[in-house]
Amino acid sequence: MENKSPIGIIGAMEVEVNSIISRLSGEQSESIAGLVFHSGTLEGVPVVVAQCGPGKVNAAVCTQIMILKYSPRLIINTGVAGGVGVKIGDLVAAESCVQHDFDTRALGDKLGTLFIRRGDSETENILELPCDRTAAKVLLEEAKAIYGGAHMGVVATGDEFVADKEKNRWLGEQFGAKAVEMEGGSIAQACYMNGVPCAVLRAISDSANDDSPVDFPAFVRETAEKSAELLIRAVQKL
Ligand code: SAH
Repeated sequence: MENKSPIGIIGAMEVEVNSIISRLSGEQSESIAGLVFHSGTLEGVPVVVAQCGPGKVNAAVCTQIMILKYSPRLIINTGVAGGVGVKIGDLVAAESCVQHDFDTRALGDKLGTLFIRRGDSETENILELPCDRTAAKVLLEEAKAIYGGAHMGVVATGDEFVADKEKNRWLGEQFGAKAVEMEGGSIAQACYMNGVPCAVLRAISDSANDDSPVDFPAFVRETAEKSAELLIRAVQKL
């Protein structure tokens, strides 16, 4: 079992990963670039867990380090998000992620198009970063069985806490998003560039509207733990 590649688990905030870290058996940790990687087993499954901090750069750095140091067979991003047409407390498993703030439209590109290096002379243009379908389905089914309110859809990522109903509507119209957050699309890009499967699981902490400054602090703990708990329950099936 020690030789088996771990599942990587990343959350931005302490409340998103703490309950998982506290459940690890045989926990060992190492610090790289100020990020602490906790490895051990979760329900008998080898895992490595890290808190990356909020935003796309933090998340990308953490993901790349995790991939190079631990060779995970799958990386799962767990946490909270603003809902886009989805209720507080519901869960969203990403079918794909987009970076809603990557914008070179002034040069004729489509909003959200990313330019990924594929060697010295090739660039791949990609808008929807794929997530592992099998893992997403396992998480979705588990969420439906335990909590009821669960959805599969596009998760929109950007370096912005969205608390505006117009922007929320725009995210739905532009990308068909069901949730908006600040890390998933960055983790998915780092995974895609390295050929590592990834999944993004988010519990809705707020409605990404005028109420978010009040709803987020009120619901963040409960919803972050909901996502983490679901992941712990599903880990043996992943
Ligand atoms: N000061 C906070 C910053 C949290 S930013 C801290 O202590 O870390 C909000 C976090 O929750 C991000 O990690 C993001 O992924 C998620 N999130 C929840 N609701 C969101 C919303 N409406 N818009 C964007 N991100 C949201």
